[in-house]
Amino acid sequence: MEIRIRGVSKHYFSEGKTIKALDDVTLTIPARKIFTLLGPSGCGKTTLLRCIVGLEMPDTGEISIGDDVVWSRDKAISVPPEKRGLGMVFQTYAIWPHMTVFDNVGYPLQVRGAPRDEVRERVAKALDFVQLAGFEGRPATKLSGGQQQRVALARALVAEPRVILFDEPLSNLDAKLREETRKELRAFLEKLQITAVYVTHDRVEALALSDTIAVMRAGSIIEIGTPRKIYFDADHRFVADFIGRANLFKARVRGEQGGHTVVDCPLGTIACQRRDFPAGGEATLCLRPEFIHLVRGEAPAGHNIVNARIETLTFVGENYETEIRVGEELLLARVDADASIAVGDAVSFSLDPAHCLLVAA
Ligand code: ATP
Repeated sequence: MEIRIRGVSKHYFSEGKTIKALDDVTLTIPARKIFTLLGPSGCGKTTLLRCIVGLEMPDTGEISIGDDVVWSRDKAISVPPEKRGLGMVFQTYAIWPHMTVFDNVGYPLQVRGAPRDEVRERVAKALDFVQLAGFEGRPATKLSGGQQQRVALARALVAEPRVILFDEPLSNLDAKLREETRKELRAFLEKLQITAVYVTHDRVEALALSDTIAVMRAGSIIEIGTPRKIYFDADHRFVADFIGRANLFKARVRGEQGGHTVVDCPLGTIACQRRDFPAGGEATLCLRPEFIHLVRGEAPAGHNIVNARIETLTFVGENYETEIRVGEELLLARVDADASIAVGDAVSFSLDPAHCLLVAA
């Protein structure tokens, strides 16, 4: 079920101040895909999600789910949340501790007065789907964090919604469990083939889970794309920087050469991915640490070859994170955990133009 958001703005008034939470957002969320709203705290992700659900009224614009307009100021339409056919999973799960798994999952059906047999049948189906069959009688408190999260998912699914929405549902789990639950959730959603809207500020979660990511800042959508597009080929400096670790340099465009855009920057003259930037203009060069492959010793000058010195080394288990100095600049890079390299050593690296991303300055 596609969701269409057109010209949606939302202001809050608090302590005599106006806060622009959503600034004229226009967005189409595709059917049967996992669509993530990603952005820093306060950028408006939750507000947008709450507008879709109907827990918040926009000031302007229109929201449709499938063929139904669910909110429109101009047409004076405001469909209440329970009539929008949505399921929702929150950060705090909102699992009731005094209830059993069965009662938690069946609650949305019970409040609607569904017949007992239907409740039993649908709860069994939802629990079976999240692999919790047999847990019906268990008090909700006697479940692990990951299992509680699955109960919350089963409860969101029990009424067979058209769309399921998630507001930071994994943020209360510890790092390892979060990783496992993320994989599990992706598998469940793929199997369901349902439209899913997911809110997070965790970039790894967004990359791992989503079919499409919309990056937000200050109430606006900055860029939309697949995880690979957003990570490797962002159009905006903010997006390139937010989605992963990045070394960013001011660059001046020289022009095109051999299918690459060549720039002058503090690392020297560097051939980059081709971009339509005018010669003489400014751009930003973005280099991800994982594409800086250091070798020991100085290298003779050459195309895209940079000499550097190790400034710091931090052991983080799978490798060393290192800061390397090139003139005035400090770059983040990685070194194999078994590399015999020390602070002060001369190193060099060769940059593949395909991994030298140019974004607008
Ligand atoms: P987080 O990741 O921290 O949850 P978010 O991106 O989801 O942030 P929102 O919760 O949508 O951001 O908030 C957007 C802006 O609106 C913020 O500046 C926030 O302080 C403000 N805001 C949200 N709800 C209210 C409210 N009920 N009253 C006043 N201001 C609010």
